[in-house]
Amino acid sequence: MENCIFCQIVAGTIPAAKVYEDEQVVAFLDITQVTPGHTLIIPKQHVRNLLDMPDTTASTLFANVPKIARALTKATGAQGINLVNNNEEAAGQTVFHAHLHLLPRLGHQDGLTIDFTTNEPNFPALAELAQTISQEVSQ
Ligand code: AMP
Ligand code: ZN
Repeated sequence: MENCIFCQIVAGTIPAAKVYEDEQVVAFLDITQVTPGHTLIIPKQHVRNLLDMPDTTASTLFANVPKIARALTKATGAQGINLVNNNEEAAGQTVFHAHLHLLPRLGHQDGLTIDFTTNEPNFPALAELAQTISQEVSQ
């Protein structure tokens, strides 16, 4: 896709600090480096995000995550890794070519905070919502 910055990285028309590439995917350092070693892994095929990604593309994309996560851990000395993926503007997506963020974690002072708000469990509401979602999954 002509105007897509990640398609331009795939085509080699703009530079990227690549850490891995094969026929289907490419992984490169995010220019903003939220934590040291912050890496993006993308399918070479232009897909907007997970919401319109074919299963075969997802299989290939996610199959490459563990080896890159392990390499990042070794290369940066990270104690852990977060996998983050933003889908659509409401979720913080700014580049509309699907990508997974791999964020090496270098201790509590590494500048990244991911906060989950926790709520008291409401078991009847959980059961009802699970049923609604499972009907959608089976469509
Ligand atoms: P998201 O908010 O999930 O869409 O993330 C897009 C990410 O792409 C941001 O973290 C940007 O820093 C990163 N980014 C944008 N342009 C480039 C580029 N040319 N090379 C590497 N990373 C980029
Ligand atoms: Zn693209």
